[in-house]
Amino acid sequence: MSDKIPIIAENRVSANAKKYIDIVAKFVEEKCIPADAVFAAQIGEGASRWDHHPKIVDDLKIEAKKLGLWNMFLPKGHYKESPGFTNLEYGLMAEHLGKSRVASEACNCAAPDTGNMEVLAKYGTDEQKKQWLKPLMDGEIRSAFLMTEPDIASSDATNIKLSMVKDGNEWVLNGDKWWSSGAGDPRCKVYIVMAKSDPGHKDVYQQQSVILVPANAPGITINRMLSVYGYDDAPHGHGHLTFKNVRVPANNIVLGPGRGFEIIQGRLGPGRIHHAMRSIGAAERALDWMLMRINDPSKTPFGKQLKEQGVILEWVAKSRLEIDASRLIVLNAAIQIDNGGAKTALKEIAEAKILVPTMALTVIDRAIQAFGGAGVCQDTPLASMWANIRTLRLADGPDEVHLHQMGRNENKRGGHATKVILAQKETSRQLFEYYGINAAATQLGGLIKTRAKL
Ligand SMILES: Cc1cc2nc3c(=O)[nH]c(=O)nc-3n(C[C@H](O)[C@H](O)[C@H](O)COP(=O)(O)OP(=O)(O)OC[C@H]3O[C@@H](n4cnc5c(N)ncnc54)[C@H](O)[C@@H]3O)c2cc1C
Repeated sequence: MSDKIPIIAENRVSANAKKYIDIVAKFVEEKCIPADAVFAAQIGEGASRWDHHPKIVDDLKIEAKKLGLWNMFLPKGHYKESPGFTNLEYGLMAEHLGKSRVASEACNCAAPDTGNMEVLAKYGTDEQKKQWLKPLMDGEIRSAFLMTEPDIASSDATNIKLSMVKDGNEWVLNGDKWWSSGAGDPRCKVYIVMAKSDPGHKDVYQQQSVILVPANAPGITINRMLSVYGYDDAPHGHGHLTFKNVRVPANNIVLGPGRGFEIIQGRLGPGRIHHAMRSIGAAERALDWMLMRINDPSKTPFGKQLKEQGVILEWVAKSRLEIDASRLIVLNAAIQIDNGGAKTALKEIAEAKILVPTMALTVIDRAIQAFGGAGVCQDTPLASMWANIRTLRLADGPDEVHLHQMGRNENKRGGHATKVILAQKETSRQLFEYYGINAAATQLGGLIKTRAKL
C-alpha cells in the first residue's frame, strides 16, 4: 500500500500515483490472488492446455481497465501512450503485480509484451505500430521475443545465427530458436526475431537485425514446449521453433539492417527492473505464507509452534531485512532511469537484476522449509514461485554476464583506489616520523609501508 512507500522515495511519488498504488494493491489482493487457483483450474489438463486461455483473465482485464489499471509500465515523458506514471511509481505498483500469476496480464503489464511494446513504440514505423502495437496495447493479442538459440551460447548475442537473407522485397529466415516465451499462447500473433542479416560485417555488433514475423507465417514449426523444473507455464509456454524458408516483407524490419544490438539493448533497460520489482512482491507473498505457517497452532513439532523456535524467527527477520534492502536497490534504479534514461542507469539496473532474484529465492526457500513437505507441492504457491523466479537468474542474460560487466566497470577504479591508499600510507608514515614513533617497534611497519610506484 502507498503508506508503505520507503521514506527515501516518498516525495518522488505523486498523489495520483499513490492513489493508483492503493488501487493496484487492492485489485491484486482481493481479485487476482484468489483468481490464480481458478486460472490453474481453467487451463485444465493435457493437450487442451495450449488451445485456449482461461476466461478469468479476460474478466479481470475488463475490471482492470475500468479501474484505470492498464499499461502502467509505459513511463511518462517517454511515450505519448503512457498513462502517466514514472518508472518509480510503476515499480511500486509492479511489486503488487508480482504477488499473483494473473495480475500482470490482467493489467496488460506482462512480459514479454511489455518489452515488445516498448520496442514497437520506440522504434516501430507508423505501419508497424498500427499493425502490432495497437492490438498489443489494447490487450487483444500477445507477442514473443525470439533471440536465444539451441546450438550456440546465447548469453553472447553476437553468436545469434538464425539466418536472414534478402530476396527481392522479402527477407528469408532459416534456423532454430528456443526459450521463445509466450509462443505457446494461441493469442500470440507476432514474433520479434533477432537474426543474422550480415555475417560478413566487420563490426560484430552490426551483423544482426530485428524483424517482425507474423506467428502464422508459412515455414514456422513449433517443435515443442520446454518445461521449467517440470512446469509447462501453459498457455504462455517456452517454445522451441524452427524457421524454414520463412518469407517476411522487407518493411517488417525494425529500424533497418544491422540495428539489432541497438534494439535489444534499448528493450532490456526498464524491462529488467520490472522483473526485479515483481520479484520483490513474490518475496513479500512468500514471507506472508511463512508467517501463516509458523503461527499455525496445529503444527507443534517437539511441543512448540514454529514461531517459538529461535531459528525460525531469525528467518523471518532476515527475510524482512533482505526484502527491504532489495526494494531500495530496485527503486534506486527506477529513480535513476527516471532522471537520466536507462543508458545512465546501467549499473543500477544490473544491481537490481542480479540481487533481487537471488534474494527472493532465499526468502521463498525459507518459506518452503517452514512448510515442510507441503512447501514443495501444489498446496502452496511457493514451489511454482521458486521455479519461476529461478529462471530470472538466466533470462535476460545470466547473472555471471552481468557480474562480469559490473566487476570490470568497478575495477576501473583499481588504479585510483591504489593511489589513494598509498598516499594515505605515506601520510601515516610522515605522522609516525613527526610524533617520533618507531613503526617497526609497534609492529605496524607493514601497515604504513609504501611502494614507490604502482
Ligand atoms: C524461463 C526462461 C525464459 C526465457 N525467455 C526467453 C525469451 O522469451 N526470449 C529469448 O530470446 N530467450 C529467453 N530465454 C533464454 C535466456 O535469455 C538464455 O537462456 C540466457 O541468455 C543464457 O543463454 P544460454 O541458455 O544460451 O546459455 P549460455 O550462453 O550457453 O550460457 C551458459 C552459462 O554460461 C555461463 N556464462 C556465460 N557467460 C559467462 C561469463 N561471461 N562469465 C562466466 N560465466 C558465463 C553462465 O553461467 C550461463 O548460465 C529464457 C530462458 C528461460 C530459462
